[in-house]
Amino acid sequence: MPFQPLTDPPADEADGPCLVVAVHAGSSVLVVDDRAPADGLFLGTLDGRHCWAVDVVDEDDVDTDLFKDLRLLWGAIDEVPWIVAGRAVQLVEWRRTHRFCGRCATAMEPARGERAMRCPRCSLLSFPRLAPAVITLIHDGGDRLLLANNRNFGIPMYSLLAGFVEPGETLEEAAYRETLEEVGVEVRDLAYWGSQPWPFPHSLMLGFTARADPEAPIVLQEDEIADAKWFALDDLPMIPPVMSIAGRMIEAWKAERP
Ligand SMILES: [Zn+2]
Repeated sequence: MPFQPLTDPPADEADGPCLVVAVHAGSSVLVVDDRAPADGLFLGTLDGRHCWAVDVVDEDDVDTDLFKDLRLLWGAIDEVPWIVAGRAVQLVEWRRTHRFCGRCATAMEPARGERAMRCPRCSLLSFPRLAPAVITLIHDGGDRLLLANNRNFGIPMYSLLAGFVEPGETLEEAAYRETLEEVGVEVRDLAYWGSQPWPFPHSLMLGFTARADPEAPIVLQEDEIADAKWFALDDLPMIPPVMSIAGRMIEAWKAERP
């Protein structure tokens, strides 16, 4: 990855155009080549080019019609600047929600030399928040996958089961618990697959593969899961796009089968 995360611009201040990610209203962004902004949040360098995030608070200053939701921008720009834009969304959201100390309510200031906000009164440090979530590709050891339609999807798409990690839990325990809660199925042979930052608003998706018995009864957690069933790889329903780790895991599993 040619992107190098940094908290402060290198001493040899670049005069050339910077990559500036303007963030407006949640995950809506505008990625432009521009000069270094006056009150930006420094992200790091991309192939030596300085990258900045700017929080667009005053809508009168900009044409917000030019902004696009980060999800819709996937595929429209290269993947590396897209990931930098995702980093900008997460850090701007973190700055917006950490303006005051959670312990003594004093206005926070950026800490020097590290990615943190610091309370000048009680010295509390607040680091960017990350919410780890496990996502599990459940297979039968052969060419069938257990996929679920979540009530939130609103479309007949089937995906992998996912859920947030609870405090005190290992990633493997979270994967086992989520599968049992959502579809009533016990998994085994959990294996780490890979991960993906998911800036909506601050998740880190951790992918696992796991095996389950296709004869085991499926018991839906009905307030969350509308449907779940086993699908053969050559007869898959609508699945998530490859911008998501779910789509990538399904495609990778298919590619590994003859
Ligand atoms: Zn404080």
